Amino acid sequence: MVNFDDTATAFITKSNAQLRKAYYMFKMVGNTTLVSLGKRATSLSMALRLPIKGLVKKTVYDQFVGGETMQECEKIIDLLDRYNVKSLLDYSIEGKETEEDFEHTKNCLLDTIRFGGKHKAVPFAVFKVTGMARFALLEKVSNGELLSEKESKEWLKAKERVKEICQAAHDHKLAVLVDAEESWIQPAIDELAEEMIHHYNRERVIVFNTLQMYRVDRLEYLRKLVNLANKENFYLGVKLVRGAYMEKERDRAAKMGYPSPIQPDKAASDRDYDQGVEYVVENLEKGRLVAGSHNEESCRKLANLMVEKGLAKDDHRIWFSQLYGMSDHLSFNLAKAGYNVVKYLPFGPVKETLPYLIRRAEENSSASGQTSRELMLIQKEMRRRGID
Ligand SMILES: Cc1cc2nc3c(=O)[nH]c(=O)nc-3n(C[C@H](O)[C@H](O)[C@H](O)COP(=O)(O)OP(=O)(O)OC[C@H]3O[C@@H](n4cnc5c(N)ncnc54)[C@H](O)[C@@H]3O)c2cc1C
Repeated sequence: MVNFDDTATAFITKSNAQLRKAYYMFKMVGNTTLVSLGKRATSLSMALRLPIKGLVKKTVYDQFVGGETMQECEKIIDLLDRYNVKSLLDYSIEGKETEEDFEHTKNCLLDTIRFGGKHKAVPFAVFKVTGMARFALLEKVSNGELLSEKESKEWLKAKERVKEICQAAHDHKLAVLVDAEESWIQPAIDELAEEMIHHYNRERVIVFNTLQMYRVDRLEYLRKLVNLANKENFYLGVKLVRGAYMEKERDRAAKMGYPSPIQPDKAASDRDYDQGVEYVVENLEKGRLVAGSHNEESCRKLANLMVEKGLAKDDHRIWFSQLYGMSDHLSFNLAKAGYNVVKYLPFGPVKETLPYLIRRAEENSSASGQTSRELMLIQKEMRRRGID
């Protein structure tokens, strides 16, 4: 049984000063009013070019981002690795729309893959398809709409970029995760990911698609993929998450008058997430799992399930994954117990990482249970160290 309350292990990489800072940070983001005010003030200050960069950098940025460049992240990667927590470099640039931007993002990704190829502590790479193609184009493909000649070329180019990334992951012996996004562009993402999985996952797993289990249709999709993998003899890499765009999904469905693709309540998302995890563990002949979650109960269930099934804790087919700066009590205690753990380590210039940072701050202010748990554990560790 993993002890998630072991705060000495959870915060082993944090100095007293860093721990105090994390405490104030989570206290700040736990305040919904402050976060929504901060969000508006930050966007406005950035737009007006006010000198807010220093403030953002010293607070949320330091907590959730590894640095401006890959090289700046190296220290953190080595530190985490000392406690057997691996890293995954996440070039977290969003909202780009031009071919030039997409080429730039692809080249940065290729750099992270080459970097990962040289670091044993970096076993995965990750990307978003919206970093490779226009959102509106992905929406059109997802709707099955007829593309113009220009759009067809664009789509082909996006596919080539994704292929180049997967090929590089193959050449540098890394695995690559394709993040899941909004449901109205996900069919195009699934199509691309499936194509890559089919092509590259013959000898070993290279490409992982992501399934958001807050969607009502994802267990069925998972079963379909597992059956296909068994029948057509490829390794199925899946990253299972609950899903990050719930409110946006529900709002759009309500506005446009179609049934919401999201589970009716949290319990249903939890149920499908845990069932999905169990299903992959039961199909490990071809299935490979990255369990992306900060939910303690889900992590505990998977850890116990592996023991029940007589699997080695470091079975190469199963990875736990959390985001840098969050749920260290899960990551470090799981790693100490011998399980495979990889942290998403975002990097990029302060301004470019703002959408990611705002999402983290909002997630931590709305998921009050999660934040109060983080705070309670940090406080416990501060008391243990006698610095409260
Ligand atoms: C390593 C990692 C990778 C990730 N990659 C992606 C990705 O590629 N794409 C993506 O979309 N997200 C991704 N996420 C975010 C993820 O989807 C969740 O938003 C986040 O992790 C919170 O869920 P949880 O499992 O940690 O736990 P919890 O905090 O227990 O669950 C919160 C989640 O439950 C669901 N939920 C909450 N309330 C309700 C409700 N009333 N009805 C139905 N469902 C509800 C929502 O999905 C919510 O985010 C990733 C997270 C991690 C840790």
